[in-house]
Amino acid sequence: MSWIEDIISPKTRQWEEFYRNRFQHDRIVRSTHGVNCTGGCSWQIHVKEGIVVWETQQLDYPLLENSLPPYEPRGCQRGISYSWYLYSPLRIKYPLIRGKLLDIFREEKEKAGGNPVIAWENIQNDKEKRARYQKARGKGGFRRASWDEILELIAAANIYTAKKHGPDRVAGFSPIPAMSMISYAAGARFLQLFGGFNLSFYDWYCDLPTHFPEMWGEQTDVCESADWYNSKFIADMGACLNMTRTPDCHFFAESRHNGTKAVVFSPDFSQVCKYADQWVPVHPGSDNAFWMAVTHVILKEFHHNKETPYFIDYVKQYTDSPFLIHLDKEGDHYVPGRLVRAGEISKWKDIENSEWKFLNIDDKTGELVVPKGAMGHRWEKNGGKWNMKLECSESEMAFDPVLTTIKNNDGVLQTEFVEFGLDKKYSRGVPVKYIDTENGKVPVATITMC
Ligand code: SF4
Repeated sequence: MSWIEDIISPKTRQWEEFYRNRFQHDRIVRSTHGVNCTGGCSWQIHVKEGIVVWETQQLDYPLLENSLPPYEPRGCQRGISYSWYLYSPLRIKYPLIRGKLLDIFREEKEKAGGNPVIAWENIQNDKEKRARYQKARGKGGFRRASWDEILELIAAANIYTAKKHGPDRVAGFSPIPAMSMISYAAGARFLQLFGGFNLSFYDWYCDLPTHFPEMWGEQTDVCESADWYNSKFIADMGACLNMTRTPDCHFFAESRHNGTKAVVFSPDFSQVCKYADQWVPVHPGSDNAFWMAVTHVILKEFHHNKETPYFIDYVKQYTDSPFLIHLDKEGDHYVPGRLVRAGEISKWKDIENSEWKFLNIDDKTGELVVPKGAMGHRWEKNGGKWNMKLECSESEMAFDPVLTTIKNNDGVLQTEFVEFGLDKKYSRGVPVKYIDTENGKVPVATITMC
């Protein structure tokens, strides 16, 4: 007899039934996880008698391009265990409120003869009572309450704030940009009708770059992750892709097969470091200083010490350096002002969205041009001009933007610059051009000069 005993008794293998049952689903539906994720991965949801029993990744993504790796497999550990959240006994299904606040509110409402607004007002005017529930924050102590009671408390608080400070002191935010304008429309509409204001969820948890909405007037223009594969150099910072972009992370790893060089900047040896050629263990909070130093080296080596055509061409086409700004008079000196708008020039004052189109000077002709690709072009009726081609959107002529007016200018104006970090002001001579606007002749300079 062998010392290895084969288990053949069906009784001792009953645990296998768990897995057999799990696969006895009635049907499969397609879905994704719209909780706090913009991944939007496609999943097969296996359902048995209305209960999610199993989830597996969909395998029918089309190939984007023959030269790119496929999207699949797409998903993450949080997603595949999502059904556990659905049926978890810990899932929050009822309103919870800090017990201390609920007790005070009930007590004050009774004293106020059942008037919730007066009750809330009395709580706010009583320092001791406010402190009682405010100091309880962070210590748990939540209690289940009814929707009616919670909604009454919220309504009373909002009415009190509007009466005392004005409705525009009431702010709300949408949880997820990718979906909340629809699914949280009631909240957004309430704020608008009430006179409050909407914040984005970025304001709440400071996730993702705030410059996206500032620059584009909309939430994240998420870059296509498959395009990472086309990169020749990837600098990863502020993101451990395995954790934060799990379904797309494979493009980062696969890009190595395409000869991509990858450098990861992070204080810890995070998971994504394993794909990188180099790990730069920056100190926490030093990212800005690091990249300012990189900018300094690029400017010094490719522009100041030796003008490099690639650098100059890039700056002309893909940055705002050639755009003209006003120099505004302030006492005996000038300060950099706002961008010059196409609508300030007589011949362009009536063009569509003229307030949102800006100006360059053509190096060949010395004439003003309206480059394509500004916000005004994005929202034009006909479209087709929201691109980075170096062409004037009005004449369709190609042009070569002026970056500097050092050699060709109409004079030099003493201009004041503020060093925000040190709270100091410096005066520098800026070579300017004078242009004719609807408001007369004004001095302007390229952003490069300021
Ligand atoms: S990234 Fe994860 S949570 Fe988000 S949709 Fe994909 S599987 Fe679901």
